[in-house]
Amino acid sequence: MSKEIPSRTSVVVIGGGAVGCSVLYHLAKSGLSDCVLLERNQLTSGTTWHAAALVSPLRSSAALTEMAKYSARLYASLEAETGQSTGWRAPGHLNVAATEARLEQIRQAATLSRTFGIEVEMIGPAEAKKLHPLMRTDDLKAALYTPHSGRVDPSGICQAMAKGAKAAGARIFEEMPVTGFLREGDRVVGVATPFGEIRCDAVVNCAGLWGRQVAGMAGLAAPMFACEHFYLLTEPIPGMSADFPMVRDGDAYLYIREDVGGLLVGCFEPNPKPLSLERLPRDQAFMLLDEDWEHFEPMMAGAINRFPALESAGVRTLLNGPESFTLDNNPLMGEAPGVQGFYFACAMNSAGIALAGGVGQVMAEWILKGRPNADLWPADVRRFARIQDNTRTLVQRIPEVLAKHFDVNYPGQDYETARGVRRSPIYAEQQRRGAWFLQTGGWERPAFYRQDDKQTLPFRFGKPAWFEEWAGEHRAAREAVALFDQTSFGKLMITGADAESFLQRVCANDMAVPPGRVVYTSILNEAGGIESDLTVTRLAGDRYLAVTGTLQTVRDLDWLTKSRREGEHVSIIDVTSAWAVLGLHGPRSRALLERLSEADWANEKFPFGTAREVEVGPGVALAVRISYPGELGWELYVPTELAAAVYEAIVDTGAEFGLRHAGTLAMGSLRMEKLFRSWGHDIGPTVTPLEAGLAFSVALGKKQPFVGKDALLRQKEAGVTRRLVGFTFNDEEAFPLGTHPVFRHGALVGETTSVSYGHTLGRAVALGWIRGPELSRDAILSDVFEIEIAGVRYRATACLAPPYDPKGSRMRS
Ligand SMILES: Cc1cc2nc3c(=O)[nH]c(=O)nc-3n(C[C@H](O)[C@H](O)[C@H](O)COP(=O)(O)OP(=O)(O)OC[C@H]3O[C@@H](n4cnc5c(N)ncnc54)[C@H](O)[C@@H]3O)c2cc1C
Repeated sequence: MSKEIPSRTSVVVIGGGAVGCSVLYHLAKSGLSDCVLLERNQLTSGTTWHAAALVSPLRSSAALTEMAKYSARLYASLEAETGQSTGWRAPGHLNVAATEARLEQIRQAATLSRTFGIEVEMIGPAEAKKLHPLMRTDDLKAALYTPHSGRVDPSGICQAMAKGAKAAGARIFEEMPVTGFLREGDRVVGVATPFGEIRCDAVVNCAGLWGRQVAGMAGLAAPMFACEHFYLLTEPIPGMSADFPMVRDGDAYLYIREDVGGLLVGCFEPNPKPLSLERLPRDQAFMLLDEDWEHFEPMMAGAINRFPALESAGVRTLLNGPESFTLDNNPLMGEAPGVQGFYFACAMNSAGIALAGGVGQVMAEWILKGRPNADLWPADVRRFARIQDNTRTLVQRIPEVLAKHFDVNYPGQDYETARGVRRSPIYAEQQRRGAWFLQTGGWERPAFYRQDDKQTLPFRFGKPAWFEEWAGEHRAAREAVALFDQTSFGKLMITGADAESFLQRVCANDMAVPPGRVVYTSILNEAGGIESDLTVTRLAGDRYLAVTGTLQTVRDLDWLTKSRREGEHVSIIDVTSAWAVLGLHGPRSRALLERLSEADWANEKFPFGTAREVEVGPGVALAVRISYPGELGWELYVPTELAAAVYEAIVDTGAEFGLRHAGTLAMGSLRMEKLFRSWGHDIGPTVTPLEAGLAFSVALGKKQPFVGKDALLRQKEAGVTRRLVGFTFNDEEAFPLGTHPVFRHGALVGETTSVSYGHTLGRAVALGWIRGPELSRDAILSDVFEIEIAGVRYRATACLAPPYDPKGSRMRS
């Protein structure tokens, strides 16, 4: 292999596994014929060569599922294009359930699969037996059959994509480690290797489980860590066929498929072993870790139960290979926050083969167009804060991520490891009051407050064990006053002489408001998609405070920073840690605040959508009159060191006004009754304000042009082809849990994006999409819809205005 590397190229892809080969292939096929791939050993020599290589389509989000579906299509077609076999075959897949909980889970998976356009069928044990005669089925309740699920030869797909990339002009250099990066300001402009430097416009970190090391060379965070990952290979078993479906037996932590006439038995065990990179041999290609029979033994018992032939089958090997995982089991993708030209496509969470084709396709779009066509927020590297890239956190948490791979995940359940790190100043008091914490972006946030002193909860689908506590907190906000800790909100201070003109260009709403005014605005991309939605308070002529969702902070800071123009006088600083945010929401919030403060809280003096600095109890706060629960209310931005004292004053005085501590569940059910959209759930970069019913957050008439305006004008002219609407369930017993398909006259027309029980409405409420030609107000409001929950269809009534307080008079009262 030639060592004469080019001195300049468009894109350098780092790593020659399935992902790197796919990124190179798609870049080259998209016209970047000069791009190169640098692999420090040989192609496939990282983790790719030993993958079990199941290509299962269903993933946690629509976009990731589309990526896996695309991968399957690509692997099926690459041989015809390149002449290189990929080993693609599609024997189908059986997800079997031996317990009631698993049965419920596979029913949900069936519904989700249909929502995402995957052909599936729920079948009984006898049918499962017919499909896989060697499998024990008498203890099964049912199975979810995915007939087109397939598998590949992982080396074959890499060789085929490499061949396709080279045919399009790309070049591959093996034995070529990247040892550093060339930086100019906030931009990566090249890579260093032992054989010289290559200057380039962009680099893509496809270094698999070494992705954190490679990111570290550029001074970047990459919260990921490796674990040992096992599968057993047997000698041929009589009667085995490659046409038998692959099997997942989640109750036994196993996935199983045919392999050269025998079985491959892999596991996601409940007690995985973390793997520090120091334990890996440096620069060794095609490496394997030590066998550990003691570790695998419990899984073996489950495997023999499911496939009795294993008892007497000869064992070829117990393979132990390393694989990398992230804090939420989704990959790291996209451009690094704060740095231009450095892209991530690593940490594949044991799905790197299934996803590689799609990852390459979307990364090529991302690099060439500046954004992908799909909503890849679940995999976007900017969903993590720098503080989450903490080695101790990762060592504790990552094995639990692997362990939960096949778990039945119930609402209200969270990881148990690496907890309690990112806390609000009143965390201890919340704990004392029985808060049940769930983690978001590392923050511990009360979901609800227990009214008993039990330390554990019974988890289940449907109506939760904490229904009454949740309802009580919800009612407090509707009828009296509830105290929410909103400290985890991201806060960005935008200052400078050009702050107003900068925000006028970047934000869709009119930001040229007087100091003291609060503006809810979308930030759009060029296609009119909502990159973020923010509440921005103008503090002074040259100073704005932008408040964003807990998880959006890094992303928004990155977007705003990268939107600055040369010479523009504007600085953007993350000031999240400077303030705690105590939200007082409910009809008695004004009376409570009047008791706590000399400020004038009357409607005329302190109207909705305004903000001012006030004294509250012994402290000071920026009081912002807005309310996500949709009631009279204020968010108090209290300097962090004053938070405890202000909180104590509120609590001391609050009892008289019916004050109740409330958590994120109540916040969720309150906002759902108001149909307030949530970025990352209901809206995102592929959704425009016109589709989402957020036209009010866009000032199409403002003088200064803004990003996304032209696209919105075009869409306004052409009309939308989908609408985000509200639904209330007709059946009071319906309990939706997440993404559910929406049917109109029996045809699938969309899916829900957020769901909750509405305690004031006395029934469940959802936000969701309706696609198709019949999108007029009359057609939507007069029609009957059905929403499917775990295989059962429930009637639902669509609404365009909030089912609770449609005119918003309570917020403005
Ligand atoms: C036991 C096991 C079973 C699995 N089964 C499946 C499965 O059934 N389905 C599935 O989808 N996935 C499966 N996986 C996961 C899958 O193998 C990985 O997700 C996938 O191979 C990751 O591909 P990659 O290209 O990201 O990483 P890799 O294949 O590891 O490639 C990264 C490359 O980067 C190179 N590199 C690192 N540092 C540098 C540097 N500084 N300069 C240049 N090159 C560098 C490495 O040498 C390596 O070749 C399994 C994994 C294991 C361990």
